[in-house]
Amino acid sequence: MQNIIYMDNNATTCVAEEVIEEMMPYLSEKYGNPSSMHTFGGQVGKKLAQARERVAALLGCEPDEILFTSCGTESDNTAIKGTLAMYPNRRKIVTTRVEHPAVLTTCRDLERHGYSISEVSVDRQGKLDLDELGFRLDDNTAIVSVMWANNETGTIFPVEEIADLVKARGIVFHTDAVQAVGKIPINLKESSIDLLSLSGHKLHAPKGVGVLYVRRGTRLGTFMHGGHQESGRRGGTENVPGIIAMGKACERALQNMTEENSRVKALRDKLEKGILASCPDCFVNGDTHNRLPNTSNISFEYIEGESILMLLDQFGICASSGSACTSGSLEPSHVLRAMGVPFTAAHGSIRYSLSRYNTDQEIDVVVEKMVPIVNRLRELSPFVKTSP
Ligand SMILES: *Cc1c(COP(=O)(O)O)cnc(C)c1O
Repeated sequence: MQNIIYMDNNATTCVAEEVIEEMMPYLSEKYGNPSSMHTFGGQVGKKLAQARERVAALLGCEPDEILFTSCGTESDNTAIKGTLAMYPNRRKIVTTRVEHPAVLTTCRDLERHGYSISEVSVDRQGKLDLDELGFRLDDNTAIVSVMWANNETGTIFPVEEIADLVKARGIVFHTDAVQAVGKIPINLKESSIDLLSLSGHKLHAPKGVGVLYVRRGTRLGTFMHGGHQESGRRGGTENVPGIIAMGKACERALQNMTEENSRVKALRDKLEKGILASCPDCFVNGDTHNRLPNTSNISFEYIEGESILMLLDQFGICASSGSACTSGSLEPSHVLRAMGVPFTAAHGSIRYSLSRYNTDQEIDVVVEKMVPIVNRLRELSPFVKTSP
């Protein structure tokens, strides 16, 4: 396989070597069931408890507030549907227009089942209108779900402030923090957040493991009934290697957060500056003051994001576009649409999402390749009438 330059870390990340090392024995010789009475299984149970402690340390909460799931999507579903189950007289969910499909599609489905969904809008920078959010809260609201950081633009919402506002009204607050965990410091003890989702594979752990933080005392319905695993909150034999990997990834993230993120941010800023300086008619999407250190979403006017991706792919460069090719028609990203990014620019948006494994040299290569790609596509573009 060709050497790749991977800048699509908001889609998934590589599994860190230390993480693989930590989980390997539990895929081979240490295959016991943590629920077993014998020592062979019991040692696995101890290792699970350690993983729970490591996740709790990263989030600043107690180990018994950590519920392991199969992915970020399951955590989001459990948070929302599990809350609704406990408040049968409340029929409304407040969320935002820019959530991940794991939240938005769940809400749309609940709408078909008679719930009312209220989506708060964002401005041109992707910032949330907190007054509007406040107005939408009422006695019929069961849960408010607002993401911590946006996966497409990296925009960070003031979720701690939002949680205070929501809790003051006696409503449960959930945040999808899949993109935030490991990239910005989180201390749940000092927040009003009730429920928080994260996902292993966005954090250098493998796919197939997620976490839902459930604040002590939070009422939450169970919808995976079975054995007594996860204190009876989620039946099913644990994904032991995945959970151990998740614990290690969280430990790593906590130890290296400050140093790694400042390096990643410097690389991201260099990439962004390089592209903006060398490609005409492009701009950055999102709130550049409150943004994840690893994410850059750039719109290239008059050209298709998909075409840029295909040409980048020829050089082994992996990025992502905001638009999703559905049944042959190109739908611009719902996030950029909610922000009011013009049609011609929303279609030409590219998300570069970095990790600690990117190098300075890779940034130079990507900037260098972008210039001829953009120029070539502009020459073919039906939207550009005359280029000066
Ligand atoms: C990736 C992602 C999810 C889904 O996580 P999975 O583990 O892939 O199910 C949810 N929310 C956000 C913001 C994400 O980026």
